[in-house]
Amino acid sequence: MKLNARASSVHTHSILCDGKNTLAEMAAAAYAAKVRYFGASGHSHTPAPADVGNVLDADVSAYRTEILRLREEYAGRMEVLLGIEWDSQSDGVRSDFDYWIGSVHELYSPETMEYYCVDWEAESLIACRDRACGGDFLSVAEWYYRDVAALAQQKPTILGHIDLITKLNQDGAFFSETAPRYRTAALTALHAADPTVTLLEINTGSIQRGYRKTPYPAPFLLKEWRAMGGKVILTSDAHSADAILFGFDLAAKAARSAGYTETVILTMDGPSVCPLEADPL
Ligand SMILES: [Zn+2]
Ligand SMILES: [Zn+2]
Repeated sequence: MKLNARASSVHTHSILCDGKNTLAEMAAAAYAAKVRYFGASGHSHTPAPADVGNVLDADVSAYRTEILRLREEYAGRMEVLLGIEWDSQSDGVRSDFDYWIGSVHELYSPETMEYYCVDWEAESLIACRDRACGGDFLSVAEWYYRDVAALAQQKPTILGHIDLITKLNQDGAFFSETAPRYRTAALTALHAADPTVTLLEINTGSIQRGYRKTPYPAPFLLKEWRAMGGKVILTSDAHSADAILFGFDLAAKAARSAGYTETVILTMDGPSVCPLEADPL
């Protein structure tokens, strides 16, 4: 069987974090959509107040048990991978996962003792800018990318939505995405990743939820990653069963536009390359 990027969906959430469906419903939707390598990637636990009710319990045993049960249920039909979306502010232990997605969702300031979400609401970004960054939004972006770089250096399987800081920046609401300081910070974070072990995701989640019209990351980052010899994986960051393969056509288009000829899917045997030409996307 000739596989394409739609055979794999490994950035998914469930009601055990901030998703709308159970793990069983997500797996069933994946199987019905002909996904053959389904991965659950619940948000890791953090101490951030805004994360209460939106992330996995610090003790992931129930999450793990249910995924392993689903692995048995779908044995021989669909591989079920045990993953986690590991937040930079996580307070748990990251071990015994088939893969992990490294993501920055919030910044923590020891001075103000506050967490600032970068992907939730403008108020949090404004508080970060004004209370922790002297009113300079590019300082917020530089801080965000320093945290991305630190996470990238831990060699995640997948580097998650690398430019999430642009989520609420439609039409340059907070800063110019062509500003040299912004570009330098983003490229420095990208170069902190090891293209021989980490995949960069092309993530359509914010399109599905109505925040953006294009996937992460921006073309200049995708092109630079290709120049570094890096590979990409298409993900929908699905928070509901109907979004398992949402926007994979847009993600493939972004990959092609940046010069990629192949994508990677995750399997229990590790990453597997698929030619983009094989994608009827
Ligand atoms: Zn995320
Ligand atoms: Zn996610």
